[in-house]
Order: sequence, then C-alpha cells, then structure tokens
Amino acid sequence: MLTDSFGRQITYLRVSVTDRCNMRCVYCMPPEGIHLHTHDETLRYEEILKIVQAAAQHGVTEVRLTGGEPLARAGITSLVRMIAETSGITDLSLTTNGLLLEKYASELAKAGLKRVNISIDTLNPEKFARITRGASLERVWGGLNAAEAAGLSPIKLNTVAMKGVNDDELFNIACLSQVHPWRVRFIELMPVNNQVPWGEGFPNPQSAYLPISKIRKILAPLDLQPVEEKSGSGPAREYRIPGAPGTIGFISPLGEHFCESCNRLRLTADGALRPCLLSDIEIPILKALRAGEDIYPYLQKAVSMKPEGHDWVKNHRPMTRCMIQIGG
Ligand code: SAM
Ligand code: SF4
Repeated sequence: MLTDSFGRQITYLRVSVTDRCNMRCVYCMPPEGIHLHTHDETLRYEEILKIVQAAAQHGVTEVRLTGGEPLARAGITSLVRMIAETSGITDLSLTTNGLLLEKYASELAKAGLKRVNISIDTLNPEKFARITRGASLERVWGGLNAAEAAGLSPIKLNTVAMKGVNDDELFNIACLSQVHPWRVRFIELMPVNNQVPWGEGFPNPQSAYLPISKIRKILAPLDLQPVEEKSGSGPAREYRIPGAPGTIGFISPLGEHFCESCNRLRLTADGALRPCLLSDIEIPILKALRAGEDIYPYLQKAVSMKPEGHDWVKNHRPMTRCMIQIGG
C-alpha cells in the first residue's frame, strides 16, 4: 500500500497524457503559450501503463486521464482500453474540454471508460470563445450530448468560478442540475502560475478569485440540501436543489481545503510524479523507467514527500508549471 507520512492512503492516480490542448483558457495557460515537450520527452502509452500497473499493485484503484486535452492525443482510446483492463483499477474516468467528445465518446465507452468530467465556465457562446481564446461552445454541447448517449455516467461539469468573468452565471449553471442528472461542480480559481494579465476585458487575475463562501451566497436562493449518499471519492461536497435530478458540488482547495483526506498522486505528461497539485515538489520518473528500473520506489518516494497541506498550501504559489502542464 502507498501510505504517506500523515497516514493518508493513496488510491487515486491522475495522469496527464499531454501538455497540448485545442483550447487556450486564460486562467490555465499564458497568452504566448507554453514550452511544449517533444514527442520523445513525453511518456509513451506503454510507459504510462507500466506506472499505472505498478500503482495498481500497491493499492491504487482509481485513474483519471487529463491533460492538456487528453482527447487531443492520438490513440487515446487504446490507452483507455489498456488501463481499463488493468487488474485492480476499478474506476477509470477522464477530464475533457469536450471539443472532441462528439467524435470519441462512443469508442471511449466501448474501450472501458466509465465517466467524464467536462469543463464549462459559461453558457454564453461569445464569452466561452473569449475565455478559451477561440473555442466553440456549441461543439462542447455536442460533445456533452454524445457522452450522455454513449452512457458515460455520471456526467460532471467543472466550472471554475471567477469574479468579473462568470459570477453572474453561476446561478444559471447550477440550475442545469434541475433539468439534467449532471453533477455541476464549482471550482475555486487556483493561482497556478497564471497571474499575468489574461487579456482585454478580463479582471486582473489576482482579483478574479471567488471563494466558495461567496459562491454559496450566490446560490443561497436555491435552498441547496446536502446529499447524504457518498457520490464518488472526489473532494467535492455535494448538494441538491430540492427535487432536482442532478447535484451541485464545491471544490475549494483554497477556501475550505480538503488536504486531510487527499488520496491523490499526479503524473505529468513528461513523466514527473507530483504529490500535491499546489506544490512544486516533483519526482522525475521518465529516465528511470526507460532505464528499466523498478518504479515502485519512485512511487513510494513521491508519496513520502506529499506535504500535509493546510497553511502551507495557503502561503505558497506553485510557479514551475501552469495548470495545462499539470492536469488539474
Ligand atoms: N483540458 C481538460 C479540461 O479542460 O477539462 C483537462 C485539463 S484541465 C487543466 C483540468 C481542469 O482544470 C479543468 O476543469 C479546468 O477548468 C481546471 N483548471 C485549469 N486551470 C485552473 C485554475 N487556474 N484554477 C482552477 N481550475 C483550473
Ligand atoms: Fe486546455 Fe483544459 Fe487548460 Fe482549457 S483548462 S487550456 S481546455 S487544458
């Protein structure tokens, strides 16, 4: 078992399969783009599989694929199939911007993908294009429908809440859960190397942070009721508008952090194990993997370096990577 210095058992591996993306969200990457890793600097699918297998042998049961945009990497379905067939992995999911879901949802489901998280920060097509620096909201809706039709369930929507960007829409986004069985989750904006100006018409990044307490106030008229049953192992606290088929969750790494129950380890596309999203600590694994070394000691090392969190998280801003290079 992978247990960290604070007694937390690591059962969840979040794998970024690429640092490339077909969107360029203002809060996730700088306007000039990022330094992209070459093909050779990126973990091959068989290498990712080896790490997943090693993790699964030591208690990891849940894998989430992310990016960049995971569906933008060629052959992603084959990786999904290989991980789905890995002994010990009981839950395989994927976080996507949805642009390519219409094309891939059905084959992903057939390959063994259980569910998807789709990121949508606004219901306004023009604002969506501004936030994503050019993408089409209509295509994402198409992807969402395709995911439903393919039986990927539950569908979770990720909305990063931002003051002066989409705070006027959070109420309407929450109301989607009244008409669809979706799990709408509001995420606090994280200061992950994204403090340079986002462009014309956006607030300055330092003032866009909206704590969960404020989001709850915006949603107060909806009379949210806590959901009793445990709906997944994620950090979201779940609520329901009375009578609604879907739910509403809050992911608050800064305002009401969940470090004490964190069960995660991250793997970047260029082969670094990252014990904490909000820490720059990394354990490179790519060279060792290619040299044929045993991977388990590296997993153990990463887990042993997992910070406790708490005040440490609040007082530190990760600077070495943008979110697109970590995976969220
Ligand atoms: N491209 C995929 C997507 O957008 O869903 C997967 C990768 S993306 C980095 C994963 C999640 O991180 C998305 O839901 C995105 O909204 C979120 N994210 C990116 N930058 C963020 C930030 N600075 N603060 C909070 N969430 C962020
Ligand atoms: Fe791409 Fe996702 Fe980052 Fe947007 S949030 S730029 S879609 S990786």
